This record gives sequence, C-alpha cells and structure tokens, in this order.
Amino acid sequence: MINNISVPKYIHEIEPYQGGRPIKEVARELNLDESKIIKLASNENPIGISPLAKEAVLNAMDDAERYPDGNGFYLKQKIASTFKLDERQIILGNGSNDILELVTRTFLTSGDEAIYSEHAFAVYPLVVKAVGANGIEVQAKNYAHDLEGFLKNINAKTKIIFIANPNNPTGTLIKKSKLREFLSLVPKNVIVILDEAYDEYLSDNDKSEAFSWSKEFHNLIISRSFSKAYGLAGLRVGYGVGHSSIIELMNRIRQPFNVNHLAQIAAIASLDDHEFIKLSQKINNEGMTQIINGFKELGFNYIESYGNFISFKLKDESVAMMYYHELLKNGVIVRPIANYKLPHFLRVSIGLENENKIFLETLRKISEIETV
Ligand SMILES: *Cc1c(COP(=O)(O)O)cnc(C)c1O
Repeated sequence: MINNISVPKYIHEIEPYQGGRPIKEVARELNLDESKIIKLASNENPIGISPLAKEAVLNAMDDAERYPDGNGFYLKQKIASTFKLDERQIILGNGSNDILELVTRTFLTSGDEAIYSEHAFAVYPLVVKAVGANGIEVQAKNYAHDLEGFLKNINAKTKIIFIANPNNPTGTLIKKSKLREFLSLVPKNVIVILDEAYDEYLSDNDKSEAFSWSKEFHNLIISRSFSKAYGLAGLRVGYGVGHSSIIELMNRIRQPFNVNHLAQIAAIASLDDHEFIKLSQKINNEGMTQIINGFKELGFNYIESYGNFISFKLKDESVAMMYYHELLKNGVIVRPIANYKLPHFLRVSIGLENENKIFLETLRKISEIETV
C-alpha cells in the first residue's frame, strides 16, 4: 500500500459501484453529438422532473446561502400526512442509498452477517462490507429472491436482511402475501430493510402496504426514493420508515445536513404532483410494452420486470459486451450487469417512445450484422 498506510482487508475487497455512463462523458470519449445521445442506463425518469418541483426549486434558490433544515421538518410532515405516518417514524436520506448505509452503520459491526439475494441491488454488499461485516448472498431462484433460502441462512450472527422489491436489475417482484408471511417468520431481533425504490411504478394491486405493516413488525424498515418515478435523481433525496425507536437510533449517526434544501423543497412539491406520477407510470407502461414487443420481434429473451427497466439476454458475455459497445457507438447508453452476476445480460431503462424506438432499431441493426 502507498507509504505503508495500512488499509483494512474488507476495504480492499470492496468492488467500487459502477454507475451508468454520463451523457457528457460518452459524448467526449466517442466524439458524439451530446444532444443525440440517449441514456437508458440509470432508471431515471425520461419525462424529467415534476413541473411543480421545478418551480418550487427555482423559487427556493434565494435561500441557498442558508444551511438546510437538518431535521427536514416540512418534508417529514408532508411524507407523514401523505402516507398516514407519524413523523417520528421517518428518517430522510441523501437518496435512499443513504438510508441503506445508515441502517448498516447503526446495526452492523465487524463479524456480523447481513443477508441479501444474488442479483440484488449492488449497494447492499457495498454498505455491508464497508463496516467490516459479512454479506451472505442467497442464490436466486428464477432470478428472484428465494425467501425460504433467506430463512435458512439466518443464524445468531444475522443482523440485517435486505430485500429489493421490485429488485434491480432483474425487476422481479415478491407478492405481498408472501412477503408478509416471510416477515412473520424472521426473528424479531433481525432488521429487515425493504427497498421500495420502484413502488410508484407498480399497479394499484401490487403497490406495497408495508407502511402499515411497520406498526406490527418493529424490525421492519422501508426505504423509498425520489430518484425514480419522482425524477429527482440529481438532487439526492429518499427516506426510511420504521419504528420510532429504530429511526431514533439511525438519526444519531446521520450527517446533520444530509439532505440539501433544494432536494427537500423539490420532494415536498413532488408529493403533491399526482398528475406527474400518473403520467410517468403511463409512459413507463407503454414503453415497457413497446420494448417487450421489440424484444419478441427480434427474438431476445428477457426477465419480466415490474420496474422502469428490463434486462435482456444475449448469447454470452462477449456478445453482451459487443452489443453494449455497438449501442454506445450509436449513441445509446445501456447498462452491462456482469457485476450482478448476469454477464450475458444488458439492462435498459424504459425511455420515451422515440428513445425506445431508436434503441430497438439500433438493436436490430447490430443483430443483423452479428448473424451474418
Ligand atoms: C435506484 C435504486 C435506489 C435509489 O437510490 P437513490 O439513492 O434513492 O437514488 C435504491 N434501491 C434500488 C434497488 C435502486 O434500483
């Protein structure tokens, strides 16, 4: 190590998170026209940010020299009234990733174990390893979480269980009845963190009821994000919901000003913009159908997804990377997911109709070259 500075072994073992490539970076590197690049790589909202949120943020700019409200009073109040919760059940985060990290830093220490699924969101192993704890990865079943497998892996060292519902990058969904049964079987001293970053995209039937379960299961923490359907990924804001005593513990280690002023203002306004969420959902449903039809026509297999993205299968890793680079050269950014143990898949976020069309046309062009 540099200058003999000793680094904990578990830090060495962490694989850095690989995000979707930014548009500007791709334009610079491949010498492409920035305005022609289509980014379908980070599950962002293709229609942008809510007009109500945008207006609120522009008006709030004048207060930027002040520290934000470290307690997030108005945003917590808004979340509480929207979802019929008590404010003491809510903790705000710099994106919901912050919540995931706060949970591990509050409850996990070196030698403890945390359970998550194979192919589950990459931030779980990251935050677990960052505190020197051991991540136990349970083999997926049909790309989905195997909850029976989770139960079998619980032991005296288990402190946290991570569940992404829907999961990213597979898009799989655990049905409510199954999830509830699972919660009743988990020992009460094991925290279950239910990551619902894509809940807004679910149909009314599938939408989570976990907020109401948190009264019964005091070991349950639900995390929600404003980055996906609410379109605020660049502002970084999310929140966690759980029993007030759990939330109080997490608050002790939270950075005092972890959610900035503009993010709080935008989130408050977004929660009022029901039209925007409805439209986002509609565009996602239509885009999903468009892309699935395209996959069927082109003969690509895919994993059925409940999110705003879908992962599709190529012959092997080298073919997947060939498609990835060819799409990139044509100005379409998608996401390789080899780091999720799915090296022969690519993940594409659902875009606007025209973006989806260009993605599918480019896919067709590549497949025609590939098969000759
Ligand atoms: C995108 C995503 C998040 C959101 O992270 P933020 O920090 O809120 O931007 C959380 N969990 C999963 C599974 C995701 O895919």
